[in-house]
Amino acid sequence: MANSSLPPPNSRDDFEIAIICALAIEYDAVTLLIDQFWDEDGDKYGRAINDPNTYTTGRMRGFDIVLVLLPEKGKVSAASAASSFRSSFHRITLALLVGTCGGVPYTKDNEEILLGDVIISKTVIQYDLGRQYNGQFLTEETLEERLGKPGTNVRSILTVMETNHGRERLETRAAVLLEQLQRHASQKKMRKPVKYEYLGVLNDRLFQSSYLHRHQVLLPYRCCEEVPCHSSHTLSCAELGCEDEHLVQRQRLKEQAQEFRIFIGRFGSGDTVLRSGTYRDRIAQRHGLLAFEMEGAGIWDGLPCIIVKGVSNYADGHWDADSNWQHFAAATAAATARALIERYPKTDRPYPPLVVIKDGKRRTKEEDECLRDMHITDPSLDKKRIEDTNGGLLRDSYIWILTNAEFIQWRENADGGLLWIKGDPGKGKTMLLCGLINELQAKGATRLYYFFCQASDSRLNSATKVLCSLVYSIACDDELALDLKDKVFIVDGLDECVSDLPLLLDFISRAPGLSEAKWIVSSRNWPSIEEKLNTSSKKLPLSLELNEQSISEAVHVYIKHKVNQLATLKKLDEKSRDAVESHLSANANGTFLWVALVYKELFKGGVKKRHLRDLMTAFPPDLGPLYMHLRKWTCS
Ligand SMILES: [Zn+2]
Ligand SMILES: [Zn+2]
Repeated sequence: MANSSLPPPNSRDDFEIAIICALAIEYDAVTLLIDQFWDEDGDKYGRAINDPNTYTTGRMRGFDIVLVLLPEKGKVSAASAASSFRSSFHRITLALLVGTCGGVPYTKDNEEILLGDVIISKTVIQYDLGRQYNGQFLTEETLEERLGKPGTNVRSILTVMETNHGRERLETRAAVLLEQLQRHASQKKMRKPVKYEYLGVLNDRLFQSSYLHRHQVLLPYRCCEEVPCHSSHTLSCAELGCEDEHLVQRQRLKEQAQEFRIFIGRFGSGDTVLRSGTYRDRIAQRHGLLAFEMEGAGIWDGLPCIIVKGVSNYADGHWDADSNWQHFAAATAAATARALIERYPKTDRPYPPLVVIKDGKRRTKEEDECLRDMHITDPSLDKKRIEDTNGGLLRDSYIWILTNAEFIQWRENADGGLLWIKGDPGKGKTMLLCGLINELQAKGATRLYYFFCQASDSRLNSATKVLCSLVYSIACDDELALDLKDKVFIVDGLDECVSDLPLLLDFISRAPGLSEAKWIVSSRNWPSIEEKLNTSSKKLPLSLELNEQSISEAVHVYIKHKVNQLATLKKLDEKSRDAVESHLSANANGTFLWVALVYKELFKGGVKKRHLRDLMTAFPPDLGPLYMHLRKWTCS
């Protein structure tokens, strides 16, 4: 067996590549190209708490991959699977959404796309999203922005595949893998044997766009006279009487049989199955689409994703019982996905930078290895992620702290000190620390080492991980010296550290007395944390509740910013804008999270301008009741 000499991965963190399928057929096709399974004797790697996904793990030519089958088709299912995925597998650098799709028969350069061809996504747009906005379609740029651009890793592979050379190589390799898949399928003893063979040129039938799949002989019921009736979807062309004289001649079908092609371009991701040739052509032309599918929009934002789907129909509703292309299309997609993976550059666990330690000495190899094991996360990326998910950092909403008495005392203090920022949930502690990090970094003189705890992420929720990560950061620093003067350590969210919190508190309450390093930590108002940190003689508590005035001004800045966004999006006049702003200000109670949650509800696509006031006043003013309200609401 290939690569059996390499040991299996140690933990979930060793997996870099994910393959996601929406249908059992697609999933089965992928498993036929896995060289070696890691879970034949039971699941070794498990999953995070609250992750409902089921995983299959294995290896494809040196790459450890994790395969997941979505519980059902569609965007919503895909989005929730993607977020659970992230909680279990932190180091996924590439997620391939592999399966079947509806193809557009011609590219904009008039190249023919046939059944079994594979489309690889360069971008994705939600073509039916516009409908939710008062019947007006959003501009294309807006749609694409909403789904974001693929990451650098993904973009760099696609750039290579877009060259003629890159694509030909990929097609050649994928063709070999398709044969391998078909061979494996035929050798396998299956209860219900599945064939992944090409179905023949005569079965690749494209009808004229305007020729509908419907009861072609209308009498006596005239059911399909205006639009195709519902039962026509479930009947085949043969049963309905779709006639061959409306078929379109395809040049490529005269030339070759099983040789499928690979196209790179834009997918349209939608909530419904497309069943109309004219609608297909119109949407495809408007947005420059090559294919239609239903899961991409759900995954695109949550994971670094490439969609690889085989064309199993022309999205026009026509189909025939004896020519179901799903198996062949799933097989060509699986083969292409593996060919892509084989070309994927493996990323190493980062090596700590080479530094001179002392007297011209460098670290030994063993020391380097030891350090690599201590690499937990990149805190600057965590910081960026936090800022992004909170809609960006607003300087005006945190600069109050620079003139705060406790902060100034902490800063002026020459021999260490522990600034402890405490406050209730939603008071903006984490964003405040993000802002402080920026301000302290801008000063330049101090060196900062920081860590953001997060209870739901197993890399970021234990005392050991916090300390390992801080030590790693110091070790990577080229000015390493035992002198800790002018060094600042920042740990956000002590209450989010779920394992060994007492040990961490013990350490933090004593550390500032041992050296000249300074500390900033943040936490909720928990008595257990209070008790421990109170033992430190160097502590300076900064309670957000005691700085009510500053916080409520900061929240107001945030409200203004959010309301301006809302006003632009919903085209609010000044009066409605002011009404929203004063309502939010009157009810926010100095809680950023409350504003963020209410804003999210008001921002939603279906919410019309005239509904804003009623909707807004229905939200209870406190965070707890608001959560209850939203939960009840989503349940009903
Ligand atoms: Zn009918
Ligand atoms: Zn038909």
